[in-house]
Amino acid sequence: MTDLTELTIAEAREGLRNKEFTATELTESYIQNMEKKRPLNAYVCETPEQALERAKASQSRIEAGSGGDLEGIPLGIKDLFCTKGIATTACSKILQGFIPPYESTVTAKLLAAGANFLGKLNLDEFAMGGSNETSAFGPAVNPWSKDVPLVAGGSSGGSAAAVAAGMCAAATGTDTGGSIRQPSAFCGVTGIKPTYGRCSRYGIIAFASSLDQAGPIAKDVRDCAIMLKVMAGHDAKDATSAKNAVPDFEQALGGDIRGLRIGIPKEYRPAGLNEEIAAYWDKAAAMLKDKGAEIVEISLPHTKYALAAYYIIAPAEASSNLARYDGLRYGNRVDGAHLDDMYINSRTAGFGAEVKRRIMIGTYVLSAGYYDAYYLKAQKVRRLIRDDFVKAFASCDVILTPTAPTAAFAIGDETMSQDPINMWLNDVFTVSVSLAGLPAMSLPIGLNKDGLPLGMQIIGRAFDEETVFKAASALEKQAGFKGVK
Ligand code: GLN
Repeated sequence: MTDLTELTIAEAREGLRNKEFTATELTESYIQNMEKKRPLNAYVCETPEQALERAKASQSRIEAGSGGDLEGIPLGIKDLFCTKGIATTACSKILQGFIPPYESTVTAKLLAAGANFLGKLNLDEFAMGGSNETSAFGPAVNPWSKDVPLVAGGSSGGSAAAVAAGMCAAATGTDTGGSIRQPSAFCGVTGIKPTYGRCSRYGIIAFASSLDQAGPIAKDVRDCAIMLKVMAGHDAKDATSAKNAVPDFEQALGGDIRGLRIGIPKEYRPAGLNEEIAAYWDKAAAMLKDKGAEIVEISLPHTKYALAAYYIIAPAEASSNLARYDGLRYGNRVDGAHLDDMYINSRTAGFGAEVKRRIMIGTYVLSAGYYDAYYLKAQKVRRLIRDDFVKAFASCDVILTPTAPTAAFAIGDETMSQDPINMWLNDVFTVSVSLAGLPAMSLPIGLNKDGLPLGMQIIGRAFDEETVFKAASALEKQAGFKGVK
């Protein structure tokens, strides 16, 4: 019998409908893999009993022909999504013991479509990081690791590692500055950050509210389309969620890309860009051209300021969002002689170094004397970056870039993990998209000389995920990438 954990969602759905196997068998296969691959540290909380219970109910619905779009499909959930009655930590000590009394909108939609949750997945603390190493539970390990353990990327490192290792059929992720795309690239899987507003943020623990977006990480482009259709949609509980109708993204797959204009931003190829990544970028453009797409050079001149603007705006919003963790209302409390001491003790013990760094930067740039010089200026730069994209999309339909400037690096790496600035520089290709609120997908393009996956990013116009899916499915077919198994 085939290993059920190798099936895509589309294939598993078929198999379930055709009675080749049951939802219980499918769930059991994933649970076995979760046990076997526990050293990857992808899950921070496993819920196999609930999963098996739900699988039984799914099976009855499938047999009655009344199943939803994801009926019986086992998923992993990033531990940033509130799940009713199941511990939710954001991988921070400060939320130890927090059991949400409510369900996030995105996970509620997945449940309503019949999906089955296997557990909660590892991430950088409060989604702040690019390697999953800031997690209070320790880093998720990249399943592609050879001699030394490699990072799975971040912040959705647990999600990407779990999908790559067959520990769930697909996973939820969130992306504030690259956290769906970069770990997808590092682990050889596919992920899409939709347009800001496409998915409700209700019940997702906030990092930087004007940037945070939920999206799927899955085995391929089609599975991302299936997942996103369920996850997206307007929600009265999130005033920033968009009223736009949610298309059937699967319809966009496999279409003819003749005449599709692919923009290549000239500023994204600095001297010193990793040669293998540059070569794959050219190859990806050539693959799309082969299928009839037109390659056009575009300019995004303000990109060089994107990292600086992002690392002012994101910490500013984080410092404000994280003010609520005071030891009084949530999670961990460390008592003190006075109220102020209790706040200080709780926050000192509860937050890790990266989170503290961001709170300090954020509070600084928002303080009265520096607001205009940093925060306001960063907001102005953000507008210029957005305008660059609007101009660029006058002459192209999607934009092609690498997802990250490196492949996965070693856990604890001297230059990356030990130096916060180098870690932040790894977001160079992803943050401008986040600042502009645009949709972007990462898909695997091939392996580097060390046998590690590299990702390509396809960026689209606001609310035009369909064209992103169309271009991505063409590139995926051409690249013929085979995932880790
Ligand atoms: N690496 C980026 C950061 O640390 C992005 C994180 C994210 O998208 N959540 O802010």
